[in-house]
Amino acid sequence: MRPTSIAEELDLAAASLEGSPAQAILEWAFGRFEKVVLVASFQAESSVLIDLAAKMGRPFEILTLDTGRLPQATHDLIDTVRARYEVPIRLVYPDQGEVAEMTATHGTNLFRQSVANRHLCCGIRKTQPLRRSLIGYDAWLTGLRRDQSPTRSNVPVVQADKDKGGIAKVAPLVKWSHDDVWGYIHEHGLPVNSLYNDGYTSIGCEPCTRATTPGEDERAGRWWWEEGAVKECGINFDVSGNVIPAKHDPVLEDTALGDK
Ligand code: SF4
Repeated sequence: MRPTSIAEELDLAAASLEGSPAQAILEWAFGRFEKVVLVASFQAESSVLIDLAAKMGRPFEILTLDTGRLPQATHDLIDTVRARYEVPIRLVYPDQGEVAEMTATHGTNLFRQSVANRHLCCGIRKTQPLRRSLIGYDAWLTGLRRDQSPTRSNVPVVQADKDKGGIAKVAPLVKWSHDDVWGYIHEHGLPVNSLYNDGYTSIGCEPCTRATTPGEDERAGRWWWEEGAVKECGINFDVSGNVIPAKHDPVLEDTALGDK
């Protein structure tokens, strides 16, 4: 049956690619879409995804969100990756006016004051810049894995990202385990964020991430002071852990991916 919309086509693709190796999922994405961008957090999954994608020999860009609060170790890794691969890396920054207004109103460490203020900070420093930066792309690649957290357990291989103009969101590593990721890293001698050597198991902004102890969830070190809040920033799920509903945004709607 011929799909009647891009969303339907991507749902069918998700079903047929379920269980496919990451390389086959990437091959499909590069074959189907012209403008592909890999959104890297520069955690271990990013190291794997960048290596796999670079080995495809197809054109793509790497985009990362420089929130202004990243650890120095993440900036060091960005430079290392830049030197290792011939892939352009674009750093995306928050709107400085929005940051200035936010910090003038709530202070620079507002995320510690309340969950609502943490969501505000993640929105201004991460979610909104990402939405703006994906305009013009056909597909974005993400290193999400299903076993990272209960919130992520149903992530499809590919979906239409309604929050970002309907472009395709492709997650080639959804079925990879923590051990799969680190096995690939060691086998291929990939560079990783040095904070893993200090006991970190998930790495985001410096003030919002701590090392974990054995037995803790992989993402327990993210916003560790919050009790009961979902450990998501709004990029992949809303802050309640639900799939993000489409927002009314004429700019993004004008750039929505057509059926091509
Ligand atoms: Fe702000 Fe922390 Fe979110 Fe980074 S992780 S954007 S510092 S609240």
